[in-house]
Amino acid sequence: MKKIQAEILAIGDELLFGQTLDTNSHWISGELDKVGIKVIRRTTIGDREEEILTAFAEAEARADIVLITGGLGPTSDDLTKPCLATYFNCNMVMFEDALRDITEFFARRGKELTELNRLQAELPECCTAVRNTIGTAPGMWFDRNNKVFVSMPGVPYEMKKMMNDTVIPRLLEKYQTPVIHHQIIKTVGIGESFLADKISSWEKSLPPHIKLAYLPSLGEVKLRLTAFGQSRDALEKEIATWVDKLKPLAVNYIYTYGEQSLEEVIGQLLRDKKLTLSIAESCTGGYLSHLITSIPGSSDYFLGSMIPYAYEIKMRQLGVKPETLEKYGAVSEPTIIEMANIVRAKFNTDIGVATSGIAGPGGATPDKPVGTVWIAYSDKHQTITKKLQLTQDRALNIRLSAVAVLNLIRLSVVG
Ligand code: AMP
Ligand code: MG
Repeated sequence: MKKIQAEILAIGDELLFGQTLDTNSHWISGELDKVGIKVIRRTTIGDREEEILTAFAEAEARADIVLITGGLGPTSDDLTKPCLATYFNCNMVMFEDALRDITEFFARRGKELTELNRLQAELPECCTAVRNTIGTAPGMWFDRNNKVFVSMPGVPYEMKKMMNDTVIPRLLEKYQTPVIHHQIIKTVGIGESFLADKISSWEKSLPPHIKLAYLPSLGEVKLRLTAFGQSRDALEKEIATWVDKLKPLAVNYIYTYGEQSLEEVIGQLLRDKKLTLSIAESCTGGYLSHLITSIPGSSDYFLGSMIPYAYEIKMRQLGVKPETLEKYGAVSEPTIIEMANIVRAKFNTDIGVATSGIAGPGGATPDKPVGTVWIAYSDKHQTITKKLQLTQDRALNIRLSAVAVLNLIRLSVVG
């Protein structure tokens, strides 16, 4: 089956000025993906005739479907409609149905129709109007040489209603689309290139209709398998066999086969095993506790935390021995061991974890550069420590330290 390809054009100066985020393209991509239409490019352009016409021609050369949002306002700065008339070489005429919708739209608000609004019902003769019952700009559907152009308003809720009510159903009537099935596999504790090395033989053996994407974020790498075919059932079964083959290659790193976050997975693990957690976090300054407590129901397993940021607090409030701090410093293995063990005892939890490090940009010493972080995990059987050598960036160091602790909890609890 031929893959149906689409392009999205977002039109509007405000998008290029950075005043408005182009959420429309993002949303449309997701909706097309659900129905098996492949988006091959998204373009953002300003309200300028020449650029709009060029973008139309370029998109038409590559794609079967061109979905356009923006530039349909009644004012002279919005140019999408006259550009479409020029591009498809047809005159503007009044569409009576569209005029009725606009008139009713204003009547419901107790307002007179202005001339500018009346003109919104004038559309290029060669299009079919796409109804807009919640705004004043009708959409337009053009079909020429088996290529479809659809123009929709920029206002997100108007565009979404048009897509759901009219555009997607009509596209599905016109085109036979394949089924697309995605499978997410989330990993932590390994960088993208190392992971790619580990699974390269598996990746190379994937058939052409199954694509693999690496989607790295801070401290994690998400893998996405995308399969194209005729039957969802068959694709799901086929993908499952490929996931089974991947498992042994990345077993220590895979933490979920869905969109769950690491803190959600850990919450589930702790709840299932009836374990409780406390935290002494210095360099992460509360961020780790924030991640844990952002999960609904975290009070089932999280008892509390302390942020012993200063030496004084590490000693007096938490209870780290002054000799340890003096001899080894706050960012050291002996200190982090005490922090994790003491917080576990003080809060009377099954597990205690701790962080201490130099987040930067200041605070480095010759043997402890910025990005040096110690983390620890403690339970009644063991205390595990880990030294991390992270980056020069403070926010990144905080994030990466927290993810490393979450992963340490995961690995220790899974056993
Ligand atoms: P327009 O159809 O150009 O009159 O756009 C109307 C309004 O919709 C703009 O003022 C923006 O606030 C919003 N808008 C336009 N394009 C987008 C887009 N791509 N994503 C999100 N909002 C948009
Ligand atoms: Mg505009």
